[in-house]
Amino acid sequence: MLPDIRSHAESPEVMPPEEMACRARLKTLGAEFEDAAPQASKDGCALPFPIKLERLSKTVDIEPDATINCAAAEASARFAESVVAPTAKATFGEELTMISQASAYVCRPRNGTRKLSEHAFGNALDIARFTLSKGTTIDVEPAPPEKAAKFLAAVRKAACGPFKTVLGPGSDADHDRHLHLDLAPRRNGGTFCQ
Ligand SMILES: [Zn+2]
Repeated sequence: MLPDIRSHAESPEVMPPEEMACRARLKTLGAEFEDAAPQASKDGCALPFPIKLERLSKTVDIEPDATINCAAAEASARFAESVVAPTAKATFGEELTMISQASAYVCRPRNGTRKLSEHAFGNALDIARFTLSKGTTIDVEPAPPEKAAKFLAAVRKAACGPFKTVLGPGSDADHDRHLHLDLAPRRNGGTFCQ
């Protein structure tokens, strides 16, 4: 795999202030998490300060627990609270209770390339399903039912900006069953949403 600028960056022994500040903000959002063991590989995957995210916010759970970096966890928690929950309420009249994730930290290249995926830095979250308070489930899929399609389209559109990359059904064959959201560092803070 081709290394990334983040691949072999020195990991400080002490947690940097921005990581501490992120954890404080995440706590305020009602997220539940624990610090997890650093991840790294000779291929260049690197996650020096992972968290095991057990709950996104006071009202929204995540399953299974996700190993992820704090910035991506915070973006996901804010997205769940400020975008997904109100969209669920507006579309289905139900509260958002759970997000089912398909991957967070995974040491692998982007499919079909040698470039490391944002997952290799714990900087991405794949969402496969949303569960609402009366039991409604919305699966990310190529041809969802009408109401679900409307919900998914709104959520996906609003993800672009808070997240720097947004992919899903129709982007390519690898994203037929989940929304891929990441915080890829790009020049000028640009986005890639497809
Ligand atoms: Zn992904």
